[in-house]
Amino acid sequence: MATRSTKKCPRCGEKCFAHQPRCDYCGLIFDRLKNVSNKAGKKAVLKGEKEKVVYLSEFPSDLKRWKVLLLCGFLGMFGAHNFYVGRYWKGGLMLLGGLIAFVLSGFSLGWYTETVNQLVEGFLFIPMGLTFLFWLYDFLLIAIKKYKVPVAPKEEKI
Ligand SMILES: [Zn+2]
Repeated sequence: MATRSTKKCPRCGEKCFAHQPRCDYCGLIFDRLKNVSNKAGKKAVLKGEKEKVVYLSEFPSDLKRWKVLLLCGFLGMFGAHNFYVGRYWKGGLMLLGGLIAFVLSGFSLGWYTETVNQLVEGFLFIPMGLTFLFWLYDFLLIAIKKYKVPVAPKEEKI
């Protein structure tokens, strides 16, 4: 063995030897991470080019953790941080849940009649509760560096 120095896998966070070509734990091929960015990752997600995308808990240089954390803190109930990093499906679900929470806030403001109140109460508290949990969970994950964002190889300029 040439070296015994270790590195942390940017996808799963497990310790690997620096000379290993791939992570023993999650199978990530480290060569795939050369010259990647979140900007390219978002583009690849939108184009449906799944084979290009890798989800990393270690953010690439074009993504600042404090920005994602702030966005999550202030607008996370509506999934803003997920849209920002390119996790559009999760963002969409959270947006839906956040809007439901908004509808529910009409209770305390007296927007609805008694019948509507009962209907809303029965059906909407579950998605709202789930969204709230996701919000807290994401905030925690971003803070402890376990939240994953899509990255892809930057496009070569000709
Ligand atoms: Zn790994």
